[in-house]
Amino acid sequence: MVRVTYIPGDGIGPSIIEAAKRIIDASGAKIEWVEAHAGESAMHAHGNPLPDATLASIEDTRVALKGPCTTPVGLGFRSVNVALRQELDLYANVRPALAFAGVPCLYPGLDLVVIRENTEGLYSNMEHWIGNRDAAIGIGVNTRSSMERICRYAFEYARAHSRKKVTAVHKANILKKLSGLFLEEARNTAQKYPDVGFEDRIIDATAMQLVRMPFQFDVIVTTNLFGDILSDLTAGLVGGLGLAPGANLGERAAIFEAVHGSAPDIAGKDIANPGAVILAGIMMLRHLGMFPEADRVETALRHVLREGVAVTRDLNPDTGVGTHAMTEAILAEMG
Ligand code: NAD
Repeated sequence: MVRVTYIPGDGIGPSIIEAAKRIIDASGAKIEWVEAHAGESAMHAHGNPLPDATLASIEDTRVALKGPCTTPVGLGFRSVNVALRQELDLYANVRPALAFAGVPCLYPGLDLVVIRENTEGLYSNMEHWIGNRDAAIGIGVNTRSSMERICRYAFEYARAHSRKKVTAVHKANILKKLSGLFLEEARNTAQKYPDVGFEDRIIDATAMQLVRMPFQFDVIVTTNLFGDILSDLTAGLVGGLGLAPGANLGERAAIFEAVHGSAPDIAGKDIANPGAVILAGIMMLRHLGMFPEADRVETALRHVLREGVAVTRDLNPDTGVGTHAMTEAILAEMG
């Protein structure tokens, strides 16, 4: 048995995490689930959106499957997601954008990965008001060591997954130091991996190119804020947030979750697509070395997506199928 922490999270989180757990269990994976809490629900229950017990559980099991957590906009408590990534030094955020057969999307056949630095940049939690809220300062911090390790991670990932090219995305023409340091380390790292193609691009041009000609990209490596935005964009190219998973990886732990948030607009309606968190679960199983179990879940999910019938309405507006029914269809396919 491998112990894995699970965090139901907020909004649609509990329902999609429950779905993913059932499917992972049905794959034959020998997992002992350890429950922990974070987000708005933890704030209400424990007075703390990120209780110490939750951090301790992840440090203990070293692997977590996490539901999305609500973060108040503009005020209130600090993002639990950012705090978890920083506290546990989960420096690499891996977000694949893969088009599945049967899923209507802008670019069938697309298969690229965004690798985002997950702990620094403009998410460094250093913001200040000036005067009577007359101005605001946000400080971005990029350290050379972190820029080097995320670039190294991206090239190692490219090698391990037989990817041909790494594109480093930056804004070093304007942010000459903050983004320039990242670009410097990307170029230095590229020299050590002559077998992997390399190019660098400016973020704004990249956004346009991704929308027009995404097939030219393979692995994108970038800093925190750019990666956050670009990975939602790339999810939009392959059918939306309902099928976009992510892994937050570090030396001490790994947290797997959907790219999307807690979707309060559809919470409690049984219409959330469980696909993204199931795909995150597949990434988790492979991280744990449970390859046959991961393949079993992936085959069943791909089948249900290809049929396009037992899928939630974000994938097929004509179905009227909910979270629960889509989960049952995947389970039935797994036998
Ligand atoms: P969101 O990703 O929750 O929702 C954006 C849109 O996508 C909504 O219309 C929603 O209904 C839809 N959507 C999202 N997931 C879906 C799914 N599985 N199936 C079908 N439709 C889905 O983004 P938001 O509304 O901007 O954010 C809501 C909250 O989530 C905020 O508090 C935000 O801070 C938080 N958030 C958390 C995480 C995380 O925990 N990793 C990530 C992003 C946002």
